[in-house]
Amino acid sequence: MNSKTADHEVSFPDVSSLETDARDENKEKLFSEEKLSYSETSDTESFKCELPHSGQSGSNGRGKSQPGPPVIEVINVKKSYTLGDMEVPILSDVNLTVYAGEFLAIMGPSGSGKSTLMNLIGFLDRPTEGKILIKGRDIIKLSDKEVARLRGLEIGFIFQTFNLIPRLTALENVELPTYANSREGVDTRKRAKELLDMVGLADRMHHKPGELSGGQSQRVAIARALINDPAILLADEPTGNLDSKTGCEILGMFTRLNKEGRTIIMITHDPEIAKYADRVVLVKDGIIQSNTE
Ligand code: ADP
Ligand code: MG
Repeated sequence: MNSKTADHEVSFPDVSSLETDARDENKEKLFSEEKLSYSETSDTESFKCELPHSGQSGSNGRGKSQPGPPVIEVINVKKSYTLGDMEVPILSDVNLTVYAGEFLAIMGPSGSGKSTLMNLIGFLDRPTEGKILIKGRDIIKLSDKEVARLRGLEIGFIFQTFNLIPRLTALENVELPTYANSREGVDTRKRAKELLDMVGLADRMHHKPGELSGGQSQRVAIARALINDPAILLADEPTGNLDSKTGCEILGMFTRLNKEGRTIIMITHDPEIAKYADRVVLVKDGIIQSNTE
C-alpha cells in the first residue's frame, strides 16, 4: 500500500529491541501447550475458568522471572472532557508504572475512566495534564508520525466489541494494521495466515466477521493485534462479550502471550478474570486506588 512507511524512516532503537526473539520462538506454542480446561457455564453465570491463575502457581505468577524495566509510565495524569462550557473531570491524578513482561489488570466500576486511561496509554487520546512515557520517552515530544509508528508497531489493541471491519475477510482484517505501518522484510500476508492458524482459524480466514462467532471474532482481533509483533498488548474488556468457555480460552491465549515476554494490560470489571493477572490496579473516583503486587 502507498501509505506503508519503511522501517528506517523513524527509528526507535529502544523500543524495537524488546525481546523479539523469545516471542518469535514461542509463538507457535500458543495453542499447542497445556490443553485448556473450562467449566461449562451459561452466559449469565459469573465467569468460571479452571486455568491456573497467578495466585495458584508460585510467587510471581506462572513462575516468570521478575518484571523488566518500566515500559509505560503514567505520571500525574489528568483527563477531562469539555461538555458545552462545563469541564467534566474523568481522571483526576493517575500515576501508574507498567513493567516489561507484566500482566496487569485494570479494574473499576463502569464509567470510572478505565477505557479513557487505556486510550491514553495507547496514545489514542492525549492527557489534559501530566505525562505518559513509553520506555522513558515522553510521547508529547514525539512527532505525530513517530507516535503513529510507535502505536502501529509496538502496541496491539484488543477491544471488547472486536472492532473488525465487516466488509473485509478475517485475513484482510488481520492484515489491516500493516497498511499504515509494517516491519521491514516481513511477508505480511504469510504472517497474517500464520497468526490465524495460531488462533485456530485457518479454515475461517476468508470469512467475513458476520459469519464468525463472538469468540472467533475476538481471535481474529487478537491475530490483528499481533500482526506487527508488538511488545505491548492493550485489551479493553476482551472477554466482556464472550461466554465463560470462550473467555477462558482467550485468557489462556493472553497468559501464553505474556509468558513469551509480551507486556499485557487488560481492563476488566470481573475479579475472577483479574486473578489471571500478576497485578491488579483499581480506577475509582478518577485515581488509581490500589496497587496490588
Ligand atoms: P469505563 O471504561 O471505566 O466504563 P470510560 O473511560 O469509558 O469508563 O468513561 C469514563 C467517563 O468519561 C464516562 O462518564 C463517560 O461518559 C465519559 N466520557 C468518555 N469519553 C468521553 C468523551 N469523548 N466525551 C465526554 N465524556 C466522555
Ligand atoms: Mg470501558
